[in-house]
Amino acid sequence: MDVDVAIVGAGPFGLSSGAYLKSKGVGIGIFGDPMSFWRDHMPAGMYLRSNWPASHISDPGSKLTLDHFKAETGANFEKPIPLQQFVNYGQWYQQKALPELQRTQVEKIEKNGSGFKVSLEDGSLLKTPRVVVATGIAHFPWMPREFEGKPKSHVTHSSDHKDLSRFRGKQVIVIGSGQSALDAARILRSFGAEVEIVGRQKEIRWVGQNAWLHRLGPISWCLYSNFDVGPAAISRLVGFPNLFRRLPRSLQDPLSHRAIRPAGTGWQKPQLAAVPMTLDRIVTSVDIQGDRVKLKLNDSTERIADHVIVATGYRADVSRYKFLDASVTQALRTDAGSPVLGRGLESSVPGLHFAGKPAAWSFGPLLNFISGTHFAASELLKAF
Ligand SMILES: Cc1cc2nc3c(=O)[nH]c(=O)nc-3n(C[C@H](O)[C@H](O)[C@H](O)COP(=O)(O)OP(=O)(O)OC[C@H]3O[C@@H](n4cnc5c(N)ncnc54)[C@H](O)[C@@H]3O)c2cc1C
Repeated sequence: MDVDVAIVGAGPFGLSSGAYLKSKGVGIGIFGDPMSFWRDHMPAGMYLRSNWPASHISDPGSKLTLDHFKAETGANFEKPIPLQQFVNYGQWYQQKALPELQRTQVEKIEKNGSGFKVSLEDGSLLKTPRVVVATGIAHFPWMPREFEGKPKSHVTHSSDHKDLSRFRGKQVIVIGSGQSALDAARILRSFGAEVEIVGRQKEIRWVGQNAWLHRLGPISWCLYSNFDVGPAAISRLVGFPNLFRRLPRSLQDPLSHRAIRPAGTGWQKPQLAAVPMTLDRIVTSVDIQGDRVKLKLNDSTERIADHVIVATGYRADVSRYKFLDASVTQALRTDAGSPVLGRGLESSVPGLHFAGKPAAWSFGPLLNFISGTHFAASELLKAF
C-alpha cells in the first residue's frame, strides 16, 4: 500500500485529521486546495460567526491556534474574526503541519480488495487501506425547488459568491433568514445594492442577546461549552458527541435542529435596520423576464429584481459525491443522505471514514463546525 490513509480535503476537518494522524506516525496522503471553500465560496466582507475559542483548528500540540498564528505572523485582528484572516490562518496551519499536502483533486475512490484505489486529477493512482472524506459542504448547496434550474445570471446560491460588489446599484432579493442571508444582505447594502430579505421564519433570531448568561461563573460553565454550538444546556450536551449519538433519534433530531436553527449574530442587527425584511413568507413561483426575475409570494404579492440570491443552506447527500465509485456507494449505509458512522467515524464500508458535515447525522451538530475538529480528529485516531 502507498499510504496508510488518504485524506480527501484540506479545510479545517481534513487539516486537523491529517495533523493528528501524522503525529501518531500514520503514513498519510492529503489532497485538496487548502481552505478553498472559505476562500472562494463565502463573501468578502464576512466575519466568522463562531467565537474565538471555537475557531481554532485543533492540532495535537495546541501550538497552531489563532493566537499562535497572530503571534508568529503579526496578523492584527480580534473577534469577530474577518474571513480573510481565517483563510490565511488555515493556509498557515497547512504549511506548518502538512507541507506534504498535494494540491490536487481526488477524482475517484474505488474499492480495491479490502482497501481502496484513489485516482487523482493529475492522473496518478494510489492504493490505501483507509480513506477519510473531509470535503466539506461544497457538494451540498440546497435551494427550494422553485429556484432549481434557473439561470445563474438571475438566480444563484449564496455559495456561488465571493465578491458581491458586482451587484452595486442593483436590486437584489435575498432568500433566507439565517446568517448567510443576513451576511449577504449586509454586504450587498454596503456596496449600494437595493436589498430585500424574504424568509419563511416569523422573525429573525439574533444570537448573543443573552450575554449575561455567559457571565454567571460556574452556572455559565454548566450551561455552555467552549464549542459555541447551540443555546444554554444544549451547548453542553452537543459537546459530547459520543453521548449525543446514544440518545434516541427522536431526541437527537429536534436537539440538532435547535442547536443550528437559522439565526444571525447580534452585532449585525443595527447594520441591517434599514434592510426591508418580508418574513413568514415563501416564494411560490420564479419567472425569468428578460434581464429581470419575478417572484410570487404566498401572500399573493410579487417582487421584481435584477437578481435573487438563495441563502437556504446545505443538506448532506452522499449521492452528490461524484468521486465515490458505485463499488463504494453500493455498500454505504446512509440515512437522510448522510453516511451512518460508528466508532472512529467509520462507515459501513470498512476503512471509509467521514469528517465534517456528513458525520453530523451520526455524531451531532458539533461536527458541522470548526470547534468539532478536536473531537473528529481524536475519534479518527481510534481506528488506527
Ligand atoms: C457562509 C458560511 C459561514 C460559516 N461560518 C462558520 C463559522 O464562523 N464557524 C464555524 O465553525 N463554521 C462556519 N461555517 C461552517 C463551515 O463550513 C465548516 O465549519 C467548515 O468549513 C467545515 O470544514 P471542512 O473541512 O469540513 O470543509 P471545507 O472547509 O469546506 O473544506 C473542504 C475541503 O475539501 C476539498 N475538496 C473538495 N472536494 C475535493 C476533492 N474531490 N478532492 C480533493 N479535495 C477536495 C476542498 O478543496 C477543501 O479544501 C460556515 C459555513 C458557511 C457556508
